[in-house]
Amino acid sequence: MNMLSFELDPAVDNYAVMGNPVVHSKSPFIHHAFAEQTGELIRYQAILVPTGEFERALTEFGQQGGKGLNITIPFKETAWELVEERTARAEQAGAVNTVTFLADGRVQGDNTDGAGLIADLQRNRIEIAGKRILIMGAGGAVRGVLGPLLALGPQGVLVVNRTPERAESLVEGFRNSSELDTCGYPDLHRYGGFDLLLNATPSGLTGELPPLSDDLIAANGCAYDMAYAESDTVFVSWARHRGARIAVDGLGMLVEQAAESFYIWRGVRPDPVPVIRMLRGS
Ligand code: NDP
Repeated sequence: MNMLSFELDPAVDNYAVMGNPVVHSKSPFIHHAFAEQTGELIRYQAILVPTGEFERALTEFGQQGGKGLNITIPFKETAWELVEERTARAEQAGAVNTVTFLADGRVQGDNTDGAGLIADLQRNRIEIAGKRILIMGAGGAVRGVLGPLLALGPQGVLVVNRTPERAESLVEGFRNSSELDTCGYPDLHRYGGFDLLLNATPSGLTGELPPLSDDLIAANGCAYDMAYAESDTVFVSWARHRGARIAVDGLGMLVEQAAESFYIWRGVRPDPVPVIRMLRGS
């Protein structure tokens, strides 16, 4: 059914993730696990929003007393346009994944993807400072993480994308970062080994990886796939077979960005580790 419909529970504070598709979202599980862990009383649901209905959905959720929303594909950029005020990191990202309906009626937009990625990289002991980073992809997710990555002082960041023009326009806002460059896949061979390959395309899920040469990962280099799956993604397997010291998927990032949203809404910081373990089934 592709009709906008949701109901709020008046007995508790209500939150939701809005997207399309959204049925497989792990966010309700994650936020209810955080709520149980911290003793917060909330309800968190997944709401399928038909294309063209996002503005109505956002407005109605707020009018009915909803406290906050996570926004996922394909509405993050529209959410950025619709909110009344944005945090600095949302402003820079051009995309909003966390909406808060403030007590005084204002609707605030934030972006927790960058914080989520950085926290998960740190937990996995993947360093950024002084390192050479290759980012594959130039979509909404890269918009959210590029600023926080650059803030950690990498030696260089190369953004490679199937549509090179999209990579160029994405880095426009970061032009004074001398360590930032873009290219298309046919030109990737001109650049040497990278300390971190960050896959921000969904291609590792479908099995069609972009064309990557075997020597892209430097000695002791690492690989991070922002996508995640029940078992290793194609990109994680590819990187392991090419000697990556660490190769992990984005499940930890998913939980970390949710923890940051939960903190914004509830003022309590949940521990993501037990929730990551639960999701990994260990
Ligand atoms: P977008 O749709 O905005 O961007 C997708 C990007 O991937 C584009 O740059 C696109 O290139 C590129 N791409 C798509 N298919 C291929 C392919 N077959 N070969 C090469 N490049 C390809 O998606 P997002 O940026 O929002 O998300 C990217 C990934 O990150 C997704 O897998 C998403 O699930 C994941 N993600 C994970 C999060 C987490 O918490 N773990 C948070 C956010 C995202 P082009 O521009 O040429 O179309």
